[in-house]
Amino acid sequence: MFAKLIIDIANSNVDRLFTYRIPEELDVRAGHRVLVPFGRGNKPVEGFVLELCEEYDARFEIKTIIRTMEPYTALLPDQLELAKWLAKAYHCTLCDALRLMLPAQLRGSRIKEKTVRTVVISQEISLEEARASMLKKDGSPRSPKQLEIFDLLAKSGMPMSVEDLNAYVPSAGPAISALLKKGLITERGFVTFRSPFTNELKRDSSPVLTDAQKKAVESIEAGEPRSVFLLHGVTGSGKTEVYLNTIQSVLDSGGGAIVLVPEISLTPQTTDRFRRRFGDTVAVMHSHLSAGERYDEWRRVRLGKARVVVGARSAVFAPVEGLKIIIIDEEHEPSYRSEMRPEYSADEVAVRRARLVGGKLVLGSATPQMISYLRAKQGAYKLIKLPERINGIPMPEVDIVDLRTEFMSGNNSIFSRDLAEKLKKCVSSGEQAILFLNRRGYSYHGECRACGFVFKCPHCDVAMTYHKFDNTLRCHYCGYRVSVPRTCPSCGSVYIKYTGIGTQQVEEQLKKLIPGVRCLRMDTDTTGGKTSHRDILDAFSQGEADVLIGTQMVAKGLDIPGVTLVGVVFADASLFHSDYRSGERTFQLLTQVAGRAGRAVNGDEPKPGRVVIQTNAPNHRAVRLAAEHNYEKFYELEIQDRLRTLFPPFSVFARALFECIDEKKAFESAERFAGEAEAVIGKTLSALSPEAQSELLFVSCGAAPIRKRENRYRYAVIIKLARTKHTSDVIKALWELSDGFNVEGFRGLELNPNDLL
Ligand code: ADP
Ligand code: ZN
Ligand code: ZN
Repeated sequence: MFAKLIIDIANSNVDRLFTYRIPEELDVRAGHRVLVPFGRGNKPVEGFVLELCEEYDARFEIKTIIRTMEPYTALLPDQLELAKWLAKAYHCTLCDALRLMLPAQLRGSRIKEKTVRTVVISQEISLEEARASMLKKDGSPRSPKQLEIFDLLAKSGMPMSVEDLNAYVPSAGPAISALLKKGLITERGFVTFRSPFTNELKRDSSPVLTDAQKKAVESIEAGEPRSVFLLHGVTGSGKTEVYLNTIQSVLDSGGGAIVLVPEISLTPQTTDRFRRRFGDTVAVMHSHLSAGERYDEWRRVRLGKARVVVGARSAVFAPVEGLKIIIIDEEHEPSYRSEMRPEYSADEVAVRRARLVGGKLVLGSATPQMISYLRAKQGAYKLIKLPERINGIPMPEVDIVDLRTEFMSGNNSIFSRDLAEKLKKCVSSGEQAILFLNRRGYSYHGECRACGFVFKCPHCDVAMTYHKFDNTLRCHYCGYRVSVPRTCPSCGSVYIKYTGIGTQQVEEQLKKLIPGVRCLRMDTDTTGGKTSHRDILDAFSQGEADVLIGTQMVAKGLDIPGVTLVGVVFADASLFHSDYRSGERTFQLLTQVAGRAGRAVNGDEPKPGRVVIQTNAPNHRAVRLAAEHNYEKFYELEIQDRLRTLFPPFSVFARALFECIDEKKAFESAERFAGEAEAVIGKTLSALSPEAQSELLFVSCGAAPIRKRENRYRYAVIIKLARTKHTSDVIKALWELSDGFNVEGFRGLELNPNDLL
């Protein structure tokens, strides 16, 4: 027999199948990783077996597989198919696609399995004789310690770890060695799994489902294999409980499940809920695990010890055998899109994987992506609604405060009078509040009041950010920093101010407003370590603070019953971003944050939640409709705009980026690409249909919004195409163009970039 395999070397030159002979004694199947001699020097390299065959092309020399890397196949059949699809859909090598499915630690055998030293009574000996041999003539033990250990092992009848024995018998080491030497006990190493879970959890069971939840679970269960469901449920409507119940029945029928949650390392609460329900059959996969933990969790899944995977984006590739359902919670989150090559979207991959395994896909959100809701309306996805919160808890009441009128009437504090008053009331009645700060684009910038000079990074064309704790200005792109100058470098005046607010400043002002208030802050400055995030959340949910102040991180998935007030300190930061999605993003964010308020369900008397949104744009529909909890209306207006202006989902963007030290070179290369792209697209479209020319909406070429970064000038070509049945052909042609476009400074082509900047 022969095996066709992909060599595990990231190089497009070797991205094709190589045939090797399988030695008689080896059991090699598709999905195995193997070690093979490769190249002229026959250096041993790793490879992935994609398929077996009975003959080979005799024109080539045939080499023989050295060994398998693991006794089991590292890749499941559906993962092999998925990889082939990925390579096509996202234009990457098959090797890169296959690597997505494996923990990096597996490849190159960079990590050792964790073994524990255990000992057990030797099988060959008789217990009585052995015990007798340990006693003196008068019946007293020759070595009390050895006898104690021997008896302990005899009683347990099972291997015990040296560590455990030491806990019973202090400094058992020498006695264990002596027993081993005498052959009374034998050593047995066995493999354990490192666990990423630091806390023990009590198991729970499902509450009685509401009618709406029951219907949701039933329609998912009754759905055809391969169907996609969009679960549109308001915050606190019990979506997670629907996932849990659906997974339970999948487990009951012997299947497995994958649950994707955004930024999982930030939401330990979610993982805990799955662990409480399903115990050890839950594995987690995200980037904050140690290398060893990641490897071990992957193996627990692959070997069937864990059948429910809860993880971040890349967990969509988890090796779950008998995969019956994939769930993507908060499906609108941008973190489901990879920003590294291959730039896949977890939801697109999940649709494909569900199809391959004949499973189902559930997308859940309070604010679905435009494209998902459109697909649901068109019937491609099945729409399931949970329009109300659990137990009739009302949606929080939202007040919008116009910061402009607030300022005009003489209040230039961070808190409007309305928010200040509600904060005081909340804290004094022993309830909790969350203050949310939309930090993106709204941090401190150094600016001269006299001449308007803005401190910019000399290497990047962006304003630097003021860091109060060490009194420096820093560039967030390249890390350049300077201590804060006392006078303006441009006009020499001393009137430099630092505009914008950070969580620290909110905390300071809050402490002035409410003396003695207990605050916790959560942002990237305060949450460096592995557990600090969890520590902050735990402390807050245990009532150790009155107010939690945070950035985006606090918006997601928090379910803390004591929280009755949410204040959005400034809502507009994401609104006037030069991105067609900024309205949608703001709507999503405000809905999410507002959803953190008033979630108490277990108390006898649910406390209603209140939300205050402070904004300079009180009439913007993203603000207004988020305050009304009106997703449908927002969707209708937004999708009409998208259709009118032909923005996604009705079109597709592609961007080619050029970065050069020499500005002229960057610009010229970009122009050349733009010209060739236009020609290639034109040719492709006219070959497809005479009318298709109009599907190219534009090709633009110019300086990127951040014109200079780390001393390189940046120019971008942006291509906009109407989304039609021809789109994939056009994109294929563009990939071909970009593959052959070997020009200095070309950073590659990107489809639907997360950010057009
Ligand atoms: P979502 O995921 O839609 O935000 P959750 O599933 O987190 O909603 O539910 C919100 C709260 O309601 C949680 O505290 C959850 O434990 C509780 N809950 C959900 N379903 C039920 C139910 N059927 N009975 C009682 N409590 C429930
Ligand atoms: Zn100045
Ligand atoms: Zn810089």
